[in-house]
Amino acid sequence: MNHAGSFSIYMDLLLQNAKLPGKPELYQIGVERGRIVALDLEIPASAAARSLDLAGNCVVPYFIDSHFHLDSVLSLGNPRFNQSGTLFEGIDIWGEFKAEISHKEIVERASRYCKWAIAQGIGAIRSHVDVSENSLTTVEALLEVRDAMKEFITIQLVAFPQDGYLRVPGQDQLLTRALDMGVDVVGGIPHGERTMAEGAEAIRQLCELAAARGLRVDMHCDESDDPLSRHIETLAFHTQRLGLHGRVSGSHLTSMHSMDNYYVSKLLTLMAEAQIHAISNPLINITLQGRHDSYPKRRGITRIPEMLEKGINVSLGHDCVMDPWYALGRADMLEVASMAWHLCQMTRLSQSEEVVEMITSRGAATLGIEDYQTEVGNPANFVVLQAKTAHEMLRLKPSRLYVIRNGKIIAESAPRHSTVILAGQETAVDFT
Ligand SMILES: [Zn+2]
Repeated sequence: MNHAGSFSIYMDLLLQNAKLPGKPELYQIGVERGRIVALDLEIPASAAARSLDLAGNCVVPYFIDSHFHLDSVLSLGNPRFNQSGTLFEGIDIWGEFKAEISHKEIVERASRYCKWAIAQGIGAIRSHVDVSENSLTTVEALLEVRDAMKEFITIQLVAFPQDGYLRVPGQDQLLTRALDMGVDVVGGIPHGERTMAEGAEAIRQLCELAAARGLRVDMHCDESDDPLSRHIETLAFHTQRLGLHGRVSGSHLTSMHSMDNYYVSKLLTLMAEAQIHAISNPLINITLQGRHDSYPKRRGITRIPEMLEKGINVSLGHDCVMDPWYALGRADMLEVASMAWHLCQMTRLSQSEEVVEMITSRGAATLGIEDYQTEVGNPANFVVLQAKTAHEMLRLKPSRLYVIRNGKIIAESAPRHSTVILAGQETAVDFT
């Protein structure tokens, strides 16, 4: 289709020669009043007040972080560092810190991180928020950040009973209060309950709570190397029983790495039937799992290619940046995707696009964002990367040249290149 002759409207912005995921040609994208109004192979530059020639660089709507913790982000070393590197020591350190933190301090850290995320092209974060303190300071603070940032980044909050829903007396009331305050999604941690049976009971109660309120569910589920940690089976069962198809996510699912293959072949079918979204956090899984192994050490990543093969939606999360569980990170979802590429050995060239989908369109499916794709009528959200293919995105973790939200440029970065000086001779190197 070519509407080049029919542009009587004068557009605000025209993106020229954009490489869109899965499309071989270069597209011209017209923007008017914050929305995409034209998407075509040819649109004259004269149709817009401003045009940017992207020269064949990749454009995605934005990156999506499907699993994060904005309450603990950038708290590394407070009150101490994690010496064992285990999940449980991390939970203990966070437990010491969270009793002390103030509203102002959480808002400051979370807001600082949101700026990093925006600069890196993240446009939506699903963040768990710890609802285990009586004060619910974490909830109040992150609701404030969610609202203050909404023009620039979408934040979904999950009510997360970090220390167990049934294990901690009164946790049910605190979680309900958090939902009443405006938290978006029901969370859980069945492998953190006292017994397998109690974990299953927590899943039942939490899924019923979500169904009654019309909310989505996202549980930390089977974040363990124990092959017998099978709460995902129960989560799939209650999802089906309550008709919550497509509205429930299982985060981590690392026990699946260690499960028996025969059992997994049945489990994947149950998950597909319930339309469960699987969320993997490869940076954190490779760091925290396998800590009780000598050698060989398990990678502790869930079975991503097998789930995709089975038609299960999988998306990725950063989970942590500079907190008691993970000391590195700079809000780069391509670093997360690159780790999934390695750990899951998704090395065929065609799999690079699949890996990038897990931090873009598949993340949108997990979070339930419906106007995500680059299509006429949708919000004009674009991240322009200094890369020509999905494979290059994973390899280079390139500069985000422009981040555009609702038609406005909200972040810019310089193109990345180096100069080598050999025997007085200067040569530019851009790693392509
Ligand atoms: Zn988490």
